[in-house]
Amino acid sequence: MRHKIACSADRLGLLDPHMIESIATPNAYHMGRQYVAENRVRIVEADDIQISAAVIGHSGLYEQTIRLKDGHLLSKCSCTLSEEPMCRHCIAALLEYHRWTQPRQSQKAKASRSSSEDAAPAPASSSTSSPVPNVTLSEVLQFVAWLEPAFKAIESGSDLPSPPQLPPGAVASWITNITNLEVRQRENQQALQNLQAEMRDRDAYLDRLSQQLQVSIAEAKAAQLAIQTLQRDVARYQEILGRASGLIKDIIGQEAQIRSTAHELLEKTSHLDSLTTSFHELTDLLHLSLNQANASK
Ligand SMILES: [Zn+2]
Repeated sequence: MRHKIACSADRLGLLDPHMIESIATPNAYHMGRQYVAENRVRIVEADDIQISAAVIGHSGLYEQTIRLKDGHLLSKCSCTLSEEPMCRHCIAALLEYHRWTQPRQSQKAKASRSSSEDAAPAPASSSTSSPVPNVTLSEVLQFVAWLEPAFKAIESGSDLPSPPQLPPGAVASWITNITNLEVRQRENQQALQNLQAEMRDRDAYLDRLSQQLQVSIAEAKAAQLAIQTLQRDVARYQEILGRASGLIKDIIGQEAQIRSTAHELLEKTSHLDSLTTSFHELTDLLHLSLNQANASK
């Protein structure tokens, strides 16, 4: 989805979580934060005016392009969500970019998850870039003493030992950096586990789909066989019907013949009747003539 929002910032780095929250729906902002917390967001390429990012969402990998242009924030995501004015993936990309551009010290606060993401960068950042680090032998010794159990903890996946209480300075920042790295590693492992769980879910889903497909194929085959049997039955019945209709025609023809014969017989009977009548009349006449002859003798 593509979106365009009026934006007064002239650098993407100026968009802090508070500002990002103000341009997102509560749900999109919540999901965006969750994606960042679960380490599902990757900044592919970014500068002050454009971010290319990828987010592992709950239904796949989505790609985002976010850009500042002519006083507007233009965002584009490969997802199909209708979240306005910006989808959760773009929100996640902006939040991750903000985190990405913060000085390392502020990530300590983030690692502890106790403060909000819009905490101001810690001013101690200057100590890491100081050209003359103020390092004392005592701090280095404490650091080295902490380092060994810290490495063992990292190897075994357990919690880091409590760091020595050191004043702000180079050695303290080394410890902070190692702690940050360990937090990122945990986040990566968590994200990996999430991905593996998701892959297992997908595999199970695919298995179910493939089983359903096989059942459907078997059903389709059975249906095809039933259709073929039906077609054969229909052909047989059609043949029987054809023969029956021939028989009916024969019977109708014979019936007509019988009727005409009966008609002829009736005519002959009537002819015979009239002959009989004539014969009776003739006989009567003969009797009468005979009686008259006898009388005249
Ligand atoms: Zn999206």
